[in-house]
Amino acid sequence: MPERIPVVEKILSANDRLALENQARFEVARVFAINIMASPGAGKTSLIEQTVRGLAGRLRVGMINGDIATSYDADRAQAAGATAVQINTGGACHLDAGMVRSALGQLNLADLDLVIVENVGNLVCPADFKLGTHQSLLVASIPEGDDKPYKYPGMYRGVDAVVINKIDLLPYVPFRMDFFKQGIEVLNPGVVQFELSCRTGEGLPAWLDWLERQVQTFKTA
Ligand code: MG
Ligand code: ZN
Repeated sequence: MPERIPVVEKILSANDRLALENQARFEVARVFAINIMASPGAGKTSLIEQTVRGLAGRLRVGMINGDIATSYDADRAQAAGATAVQINTGGACHLDAGMVRSALGQLNLADLDLVIVENVGNLVCPADFKLGTHQSLLVASIPEGDDKPYKYPGMYRGVDAVVINKIDLLPYVPFRMDFFKQGIEVLNPGVVQFELSCRTGEGLPAWLDWLERQVQTFKTA
């Protein structure tokens, strides 16, 4: 069905245009934005909670949460101290730039330094939709298994950083860290990686310091 290809290209380029508009809004407001992607249950929301708490007094954080049906995750981010906006995707398995644009209408960017976008839990199509964020982060976790870079190369290839969450479970779960990291290295050589546990707090400071540095570098550029 060759006639289908141009339609898909048009949808993607319309999304890219909206993503550029979103990015322009972030630039004008001097707000750094990061898109967090992961499979369901990897710990995106836990990482965001810990990040909001850890950066309290250092950065003003807003959060846009994409969820298929609930607002639990936005509520958790709000409880941690973020200004949070919920997008219910109505069943869609990824965020697109238009959804983020709607959410931006509900955030006062002038009061923020950092916007964290929590994408829908899914390791496939979120990678295909630019949102207008400056960087993207993939959250992997030990219980998911060490084969994920090999199974979802599109996701690992495009991200700016990888968080490996739930390292407190390493003694209990078969997970070959070397094998996992080899997979990442082939797809995304030299990508920044953080091994941490949102539950115990181990490894969180390095992630927080890196993220704060990204924001400060952006703001002073
Ligand atoms: Mg979540
Ligand atoms: Zn999707």
